[in-house]
Parts: sequence; structure tokens; C-alpha cells
Amino acid sequence: MLLDLLLPQRCVVCGCGGSQLCAGCRSELPRLEPPLCGRCGAPTAWPVERCRECAGRRLGFASARAAAGYDEAARRIVHAWKERGLRRLAAEVAQLVVERLPRPDAEALTFVPADRGRRLERGHNPAERLALELATAWELPCLPLLERTRGGRQRGSSATERRSVRGAFRPRRAAPRKVAVIDDVYTTGATAAAAASALRAGGARRVEAVAFARALRRG
Ligand SMILES: [Zn+2]
Ligand SMILES: [Zn+2]
Repeated sequence: MLLDLLLPQRCVVCGCGGSQLCAGCRSELPRLEPPLCGRCGAPTAWPVERCRECAGRRLGFASARAAAGYDEAARRIVHAWKERGLRRLAAEVAQLVVERLPRPDAEALTFVPADRGRRLERGHNPAERLALELATAWELPCLPLLERTRGGRQRGSSATERRSVRGAFRPRRAAPRKVAVIDDVYTTGATAAAAASALRAGGARRVEAVAFARALRRG
């Protein structure tokens, strides 16, 4: 973290000097603009309550929203943020989320807990870091409401993600009625859905999912 403060700032996407995310790269991060699926936030041809991607799935969250499409630039940001733990980058990302998304209808924020191995390895959890930054901006408490039942979070194919996160979380303490759960990337929604059901088991009545970036289906 000290290095992060001392080293000259370079944009993690294009490498230009000045800041960890330059204004140009920041504004080029793809926006997810309406029409969107009302539930999972996927861009759709017209407004729908459920889209092809989420129809028929049990999703414990009322809505999922992300500030940007998960393109190559977003991937580099998430990678730099995860592997290098860049604090200022977390703040930049949080600011982008605040600018592009409405404040969630929630009494508190929480975050998707990192699995133990990764947390120990990196010494930080990007989802938690983002949730803390957002809590300050939105003036909401950030509460550690979830814990993992076992390790292993895998992204990749939908089937892999779904298998690896089913029953992966449990409530750590009682949840307020309305909660927003923060994660860095929304991939298939399986992680957000598993987190939302654990929050509901902990007493939440309504859960919103908020992420920095969202994977987009091709075609
Ligand atoms: Zn740049
Ligand atoms: Zn959908």
C-alpha cells in the first residue's frame, strides 16, 4: 500500500502518466444504458422484467446493476485492483459507480466475502474495498453480513460459477430489511444470487446487487 502512494501514477489501462485511471479511459468504459432487463441489468432491445439471460432462474435479488460493461479495459482495471491492491484505483472505481448508478434503496451495504485463501494471499478483498468506498459516498453503513461456508469461487463458464457458489454463503449476523450487496464483477449472476439468498436467510427482505462491471453476452 505504501508503494501505491509513492510510485508515480500510471493509468492501468493505457499506461499514460497522471492517475491510475485516466479521464479518457474512464469515459470510454462502456455504459450500460436503458433499455435494460429490470431484474439482472442486461442490456436488452426493449425494457423487460426478465430477459433471456435470467428468465426462469431463481435470483434472490430484486435488481442487479453495474457501472460498466466488462470489456478489456474493465478487465485490466479489475486485475490491477485485485492483484496489486491499488487503493486509489478502488476510490476511482467507486466514484464511477456513484456517477453512473442511482443510490440503492438500502439501509446498509455489504459485500461478497473473499475466500480465505485469496484474502490471505492478497491481504485485501476488492469487493469489500469497493463497498467501503461506496458506503462513504452514499452515506450508508457497510456491514460484514456474509461469510463463506467453504472456499472456492470460480469464474468461467456459467455452469462452473453456478456450481461453485451454490450454498457458498451464510449469514454472519442479522441483516437489515433492505441491503445492497457489492461485488467487483457480475458474471452470470450466480454469485449475486447466492449472496442474496444468504442475506434473505439472515432477515433481509429486499436485496439489490451492485457491481463495478458486468459481463456482456456476445451476440
Ligand atoms: Zn488511460
Ligand atoms: Zn435479465
